[in-house]
Amino acid sequence: MVEIIIPNKRYNRDIPNLGEDLTDEELKDICQKITGQTSFKKTLDNNWSTGRYIKLVDNDKIHFVGISGRKVSGRNSFIQTIATIFSAYINYNCRHKYLDYYFLQITGNNKTNFLKFYYRIMKTINFNFINLQVGLGNLVLEKYDDVIKLINDKNTIRKSNTANKSSFITNEGCEYRIYGKSFGANSKETALICFAISFITDKPVQLFQILDNNSKSISENDKNAILSFGKINIINDTFIFDETNDITEDNNNIRSARFIYNLLSKYGEKHCALCDCEIDNLIQAAHIWPVADIKKEHISLEEKKKYATDENNGIWLCENHHKLFDSGLITISLDGKILLSNKLNAICKKYVSFITTINCITLNEQMVNYFKLRYKL
Ligand SMILES: [Zn+2]
Repeated sequence: MVEIIIPNKRYNRDIPNLGEDLTDEELKDICQKITGQTSFKKTLDNNWSTGRYIKLVDNDKIHFVGISGRKVSGRNSFIQTIATIFSAYINYNCRHKYLDYYFLQITGNNKTNFLKFYYRIMKTINFNFINLQVGLGNLVLEKYDDVIKLINDKNTIRKSNTANKSSFITNEGCEYRIYGKSFGANSKETALICFAISFITDKPVQLFQILDNNSKSISENDKNAILSFGKINIINDTFIFDETNDITEDNNNIRSARFIYNLLSKYGEKHCALCDCEIDNLIQAAHIWPVADIKKEHISLEEKKKYATDENNGIWLCENHHKLFDSGLITISLDGKILLSNKLNAICKKYVSFITTINCITLNEQMVNYFKLRYKL
């Protein structure tokens, strides 16, 4: 006999739980689509509230079946549900386990680019859509087989929704880096991106957890699910300063993850401010007011951390431009003009001016202040 176990604990006064929400007809349809049978035993679990999914047990097989809403809900709750189901599935110890997704009749537009991106992520992590036609009509959903395509699509949806800054992925050549917020729905989005990338890459992946004020790190369940693939190394958000205040200036060093995340949030994808180079692994987060100078100030450690990670205290520079900038062979004036030093001989000057395709950059007031601090004005 097939058994369907349904969460029945009310966790939000305004949202019915699945035990109240799903009709017997719908359950029968789910059962038939998965097992070919129409009779089942229904079990309501009064202690289970999290995640909009049911468990269907068919002899030694267990199906984790995500259930759509009846109307298009907020992005956050959709993402939260998918990540929660996936973690529950991965962490469940059973040989014959499956992931499914069932669409109820939905009102509202559920074919936005944002949702399409996450349906493809679901395909990539092996969700089986048991009634795709009902939810998405004739839409063809393909798995991602290439991390670069996934990154490009993620960047595209971020551009159409600039408030979405929960996670960034960079391609560093020999590895991928994910800078992910680790609070609430953001952490769930980060987890989903990690799951999908684990399925399609052989390269190492570093996940930098970017903690909000007082926020916790990714949940234990999600963390275990991410680590179970053995591909992703999780690194906690640490500042450039440690407790002894012993720091070194670093560019791509993992300890400046927060600074890089802040620049990704401010400027978007990496591209050199002086030459438009967009090759991720050549581009570094450059400080305007150098960390070495910040360290010398007689201010609190907290203030030092703030200045060292402030997005306005940074620009993206390629390796060439970063070195030229740090050595003073290129300077940027307070009105954003790019100036070449007279220390460069004529041949070098010609070369630097050839590779420096941008001659003026836009500076906001805070950036100008950091330049004043840099030049000790
Ligand atoms: Zn450059």
